[in-house]
Amino acid sequence: MIDLDSKLGDVKAAYDAPEPTGMTMNDPGARLRLSHSTLELLHSCERKLQKIKLLHNPYAKEDTPATVFGKAYGAAAQLYMILRTMGETSAVALESAIWEAFIKYTPFLEDEQRFLERLIFCLEAAVPFHEQKLMEWEIATFNGKFAAELSFCLNINEKYYYVGYLDLVLRNRRTKRYAVTDYKTTAMRGEDLTPNYKYSDQVIGYSIILDAIAGEQLADFDTNYWVNQISGSSKTSLYEPKFHSYTFPKTLRDRFEWFTKIYLDVNYLQTLEPLEAYPRRASCKAFNRVCQFFNDCQFTSSDLPAAYVEDTTDYQFTYELDDLFQDHQRRLNILMTTAGV
Ligand code: SF4
Repeated sequence: MIDLDSKLGDVKAAYDAPEPTGMTMNDPGARLRLSHSTLELLHSCERKLQKIKLLHNPYAKEDTPATVFGKAYGAAAQLYMILRTMGETSAVALESAIWEAFIKYTPFLEDEQRFLERLIFCLEAAVPFHEQKLMEWEIATFNGKFAAELSFCLNINEKYYYVGYLDLVLRNRRTKRYAVTDYKTTAMRGEDLTPNYKYSDQVIGYSIILDAIAGEQLADFDTNYWVNQISGSSKTSLYEPKFHSYTFPKTLRDRFEWFTKIYLDVNYLQTLEPLEAYPRRASCKAFNRVCQFFNDCQFTSSDLPAAYVEDTTDYQFTYELDDLFQDHQRRLNILMTTAGV
């Protein structure tokens, strides 16, 4: 199953699980946290979103070897970049990154393609990739700290809000362009993974933080996907990960389009809510796994609202969607006027 929320937030939640509030998700004051993964879930099967986010769910949160491996790799690779930027040697940065991977590899789930030994091998094999990236990009700073693993909360209305965790904000040493960078791990096959990332809007959404880092004058930026491809489970392919770097230029208009999509998705959710009608889609088997609700999906008489747990996360950035929408409309108008459109 896809990861429902943050990459690192899940690890934190295991230790800082907040107390239930005594309210349910049906109470007027209950807020619904959205994320890129939650909206992917909405687009794949509304009933599944309802089961996971709105109803009492008797099943444990479905971590998989893929999500655990990906989270641990991303956290460790970020740490390598930060330590090298701080002047540590490659050997010291790699050792720390491997320890980070050990710590973040939780819960300990492995399969024939994703296992701890392979993760460590991936980090070792990624050293030349990262060294080349360090020559090309520097990590941006914000308030005197590296712009890494930044969190934000975007308030959409009284009930809905959207959260995101951004891996790295980088600045190209030559062109000075900023790039919002996301680590990905995939078992997809193929030489060219461009179609999988070019129009993904995940990182465009995360780019709202760029205004605080680079200033509002910034109208163009890049999205970077640094991909660790671990396809194949043959003996040779197991130890031959491939690393890809995809950079896509984006503009304020792309971000404006993302705001529009968030409004549309929330409008749709608000339409479903009073109807209590959450359509079932034929997404019951994905990535070779059958949906955990497959056997009881059709029974609605036992649906109970989920307990509401207040989100006490201290997000580093908080925004109001209406304000951002209007602000971007204004900035786009200025750009069009300046360009004589
Ligand atoms: S079993 Fe199929 S229809 Fe039911 S929630 Fe899962 S994906 Fe949706």
